[in-house]
Formats: sequence, C-alpha cells, structure tokens
Amino acid sequence: METFPFLHDARLAARTLRTCRLIAPSGIAATIPLREPLYVFRRADLHQFLLERAEQAGARLAAERVVAFGPAGARPGPPWSIDALDASGVRRRYAPFDFLIAADGAGGFTRRRLAGGIPAAELTQAIGYYLPDAVEQDVVLKFCAGVQGYAWVFPRHDHDAAGICGTLGALPAAQLRALLDTFLKERYGPERLARGTHYAALIPGAPASLRDLRLQGSGWALVGDTSRSVDPLTREGIHYAMESAELLAEALVADAPESYAARWRRTMGREFSWAGRHVAEFFEPRSIERLVRLCARSARIADILSDLLAGRQRYRTLALRLLANGPVIAWQALGPSSGPADHARSWQLKH
Ligand SMILES: Cc1cc2nc3c(=O)[nH]c(=O)nc-3n(C[C@H](O)[C@H](O)[C@H](O)COP(=O)(O)OP(=O)(O)OC[C@H]3O[C@@H](n4cnc5c(N)ncnc54)[C@H](O)[C@@H]3O)c2cc1C
Repeated sequence: METFPFLHDARLAARTLRTCRLIAPSGIAATIPLREPLYVFRRADLHQFLLERAEQAGARLAAERVVAFGPAGARPGPPWSIDALDASGVRRRYAPFDFLIAADGAGGFTRRRLAGGIPAAELTQAIGYYLPDAVEQDVVLKFCAGVQGYAWVFPRHDHDAAGICGTLGALPAAQLRALLDTFLKERYGPERLARGTHYAALIPGAPASLRDLRLQGSGWALVGDTSRSVDPLTREGIHYAMESAELLAEALVADAPESYAARWRRTMGREFSWAGRHVAEFFEPRSIERLVRLCARSARIADILSDLLAGRQRYRTLALRLLANGPVIAWQALGPSSGPADHARSWQLKH
C-alpha cells in the first residue's frame, strides 16, 4: 500500500486486518498484533481497478484471448504481431508492436515459448475454498507437519478465502486437500466447508539460483508470475507482479529496457534466492513450533514477524535482527513480563 498509494481508493473496498493467528503443527497457537494493517481485496475488484487505471492512462484494452505471437517481419524478434480470439471466436491479428511484455500468469503459454518451462519442484500447488460469509477476524496461518507451505484463511468483505499450498508433487493433491479439510472442519464445522466453492491453481515460485533465470531478451520481457516474481516461502506474488511491472515500465520509459533484469535481481531477486534456499528449514515443524511459542511470549519476536508479513523485514537480515534482539527476546520469553496472566492470554493449546 505504501509502494502503490493509489490503492487507497474509495472505489477499491479493502478489508483491513490487524491481527494474525499462527497455528503450529501441534495445534499450539499465538495471536500477534500486526504493526501495520494487512489489506485484503477481492481479486475481481483489484483487477478491474487496475485495468481501469491502465485505460485512463492511455492503454487500449482488447478483451481477447491471445492465441499466438511472433515476429511481424521476416527476421526473428521485434516488431511483433499478436493473434487473439474475441468472445465469439473471431481471430484478429494486431501488429506491429516494438516491445512484447508477457504477463499471462502461471498458466500462460508465453513464458514457455520465450524463456522455457519451470521445473515441477519449483512450482507450488494451491488448493482452497471460498467459504460463505466473513467469519474470521484475524489472518489465520496454519502449519502442517510434512508440508513445505501452509494453510491460510483470509477474511474478505463477504466471505473468507481459505487455502493450502505446498511444493508440487511433494504430497498428492488429495492428501493436501484432506489436511485443509480437516483443519477447516475442526475450525468451522463440516456444513460451512460443504457450502464452500473449491479451487485449485499453480504458483510459480522464484528459483533458489538466479543464474539461469531469463527475464528478458531482444524486444521482450516477462513480468509477474510469468517472470516468477513470487516469494518462494510465502508464495505471495501480487506485490511483486506490480513491482516487476513498474521496474519494466521505468526501464522502458528511460529507453533502457535492458536495465530491467539487473534491477529486478537487485530489488527482489536476491531475497527470493535466499528464500528459495531456505524453504525446507523454514517449514521444519520444530522451527515453526519454536517460532509460534516465542511469538506468544515475546513482543519483540511478534514485532519481527509482523514486519516479515508486511514485507518490511528482509530475509537476509532476519538472523542478524534476531541476534541483535536476542537478550530482550530471551528476557521477554523467560522474564517477569511473561508471567502467568500474559501467558494464559496469549497461549491457547488446541486439541
Ligand atoms: C490460490 C492462490 C492464492 C494466492 N494468494 C495470494 C495472496 O494472498 N497474496 C499474494 O500476494 N499472492 C497470492 N497468490 C499469488 C498471486 O495470485 C500471483 O502471484 C499474482 O496474481 C500474479 O499476478 P500476474 O498479473 O502476474 O498473473 P495473474 O494474476 O495470473 O494474471 C494473468 C492474467 O493473464 C490472463 N491471461 C492468461 N493467458 C492469456 C491469454 N492467452 N490471453 C489473454 N489473457 C491471458 C489471465 O486471464 C489473467 O487475467 C496466490 C495465488 C494462488 C493460486
């Protein structure tokens, strides 16, 4: 919201959340206050809002499905032509374009053509439900043993969005879904789940090594999920889709499109790469148990996690900050401020 202040707009209804509930694999839970609120939008609203802004800025929208693209001239590369089908199946060719931006998301075909596919081990499968009525007040993050990912519930305006994500193929999809179903049934009862709308999707996390990552070539560039601008730990990609688009736009406006990839690597690539190398450790059940326990007992740790959720705490300096705050954290975790009353307030052992 700070990077893109135009999102504070009366036409874009946001649900503002101020607390996050963390649930460890054992069921131990902690509720942490968020130092900065989390804004949850309906996807359809956000998409419509961004499309309208683009049109107001001069973009021409062709609400059609791109089915092919290629060089418009005899030589490979730009200028480009694009073939698209409209809603009634009529095919049109658009040309010439001097720069091609591929932004067709995780399921699009442009990435495979321009930069190659993504190894299955670096994809995440997400399975979830839109649950009727908004019941939750907190963001809920639930961790499960054996899953390098997590389940979530994000309260929206008129419903709750729930889901679970894990490395593709690490667990069969049915097993991943069963973990989510058990969690949701325990939390809300089976009737609410039965009335939910199911969905499944793939999320393309950034790779641990950026060496072979191709983000651009002659007269083309990738942004958003197509460019794998997705945090491989949290699997968040909305902020990075917008940020990668902005970096590319700035590079094009500066007439230096070739500067895009280097800026991408500096801005988000290094963090992604660190995150990609630490997925297994991060989701190791004992670490999560410890983290949740500490969050319940130490305000300092809760603050650090809140900053992490807000995107303010870099992964690469996380260990340093934890070390620097070590004595205070230890004092809070063991000392008088976490006496029995605080303890009872912030801890909840679930069956
Ligand atoms: C279940 C789930 C939950 C998630 N939750 C979060 C979250 O809470 N926070 C977060 O930050 N990220 C989340 N993500 C990740 C996030 O959704 C993506 O990183 C983000 O949407 C990427 O934006 P994008 O514009 O690159 O791609 P997309 O949002 O996928 O947009 C691509 C667009 O291209 C269009 N398109 C595709 N092919 C064609 C074609 N041939 N012709 C024309 N148009 C085409 C599609 O219709 C779509 O509109 C989640 C992902 C999933 C699957």
